Amino acid sequence: MSHVFHRSALSVPPMAVAADGHYIIDINGRRYLDASGGAAVSCIGHGDPRVVAAVAGQIARLDYAHSGAFTSPSAEELAAHICAAAGQGMARVYFVGSGSEAVEAAIKMARQCQIERRQPSRHVVISRRQSYHGNTLGALARSGSETRRAPYAPMLQERTQIAPCFSYHYAEPGETPVAYGLRAAEALEAEILRLGPENVAAFLAETVVGATSGAVVPATGYFQRISEICDRYGVLLICDEVMCGAHRTGPFLACSAEGVSPDIVTLAKGLGGGYLPIGAVVCRAEVHDSFAQGSGAFTHGHTYMAHPVACAAALEVQRVIVEDRLAERVVRQGALLDVALRDRLSQHPHVGDIRGRGLLYAVELVADREKRASFDPEMRLAARIGAQAKARGLLVYAGSGTVDGLRGDHVLLAPAYSIDAQEVSEIADVLTEAIDAALG
Ligand code: PLP
Repeated sequence: MSHVFHRSALSVPPMAVAADGHYIIDINGRRYLDASGGAAVSCIGHGDPRVVAAVAGQIARLDYAHSGAFTSPSAEELAAHICAAAGQGMARVYFVGSGSEAVEAAIKMARQCQIERRQPSRHVVISRRQSYHGNTLGALARSGSETRRAPYAPMLQERTQIAPCFSYHYAEPGETPVAYGLRAAEALEAEILRLGPENVAAFLAETVVGATSGAVVPATGYFQRISEICDRYGVLLICDEVMCGAHRTGPFLACSAEGVSPDIVTLAKGLGGGYLPIGAVVCRAEVHDSFAQGSGAFTHGHTYMAHPVACAAALEVQRVIVEDRLAERVVRQGALLDVALRDRLSQHPHVGDIRGRGLLYAVELVADREKRASFDPEMRLAARIGAQAKARGLLVYAGSGTVDGLRGDHVLLAPAYSIDAQEVSEIADVLTEAIDAALG
């Protein structure tokens, strides 16, 4: 009998006892190839001896010191590494313990930044439907993930959301990607004007959408237009890169490929690669200056923020990425994954779309390819594919509600950046088998 309050109240998941490279090993010695790095977390694989040594060394030197009283070498070095890797004027990093905490802190940072700039009425954070920003109440209130929101709806602040930029489902027939991207971005201007620009603090969006719709890459020009609109109305741009940042799509920040320099970016999963929990809010110098020239302090904080051991682990993970040239590898192996998935699945009668960037990829399942119509949600197709894959020793991140929060099924793939060609091929083969078994 388990005393752990598991995710399911009805079952206890298999006991993981070890991990090795790209595999998780359960108590029966069964090995699972991790095609999604958990939830797009394990980016350098498991058990890297360099990270193990860095963590052990840090614990021996300094396990914990309260961030209100001290900084630490690992926090300082990691912040410097992140700002250098991010470029684009990023100058300060606020360390927290998870993606949700990073989004909470980013929202509050934007709000207080507006106060510091003598714009105290600016408090609304506009976000997008079909987004996921975390499960804490503030982040959940901005998320467009209907199933995650439903039980807490009365506790969530009123939300203000615009449509996502999701061309597979929302572009008009014949509309060019650029025209669609501009049209999708204009929704932000309309919403700012509806709310009154004097009330809007920030716009929050995942640069590449992860969990809710599955690796949705923005249309060309979309974020540039979004950034122009934010600038015109004094609205801060927050890119949530908890999933797509830290080289998951190639560059350190996914938004750099969109040609925009947000005011604030959130990071988490690939930052620490799963070795220890860590999240970060990265901001431009101007944002920090507003605090320095204003009240002097961000009214926020957590006991474990900037934890020296978590920072040491993340610093070493980022060093491994540089040392092993994994950012370049993301692009190469991402191209291999794209080819392997298209080879096995592009003619499949129930695969509607194969999409993504770098090593953040998804396969969307449809009942009818012509109409891009989803399966009946009652079928729970994504969950069935996930279970079939797991039964075959492959771990994927299956999600439903892809289209509008209720309808649609996809399988998200986010393997480690160090994945090899043979493993990529195995992922595509076993996923194909799992899809056929779930549909059969
Ligand atoms: N933001 C995005 C884009 C995410 O994908 C997630 C998690 O999937 C979060 C925030 C929340 O992160 P965490 O689960 O670490 O709290």
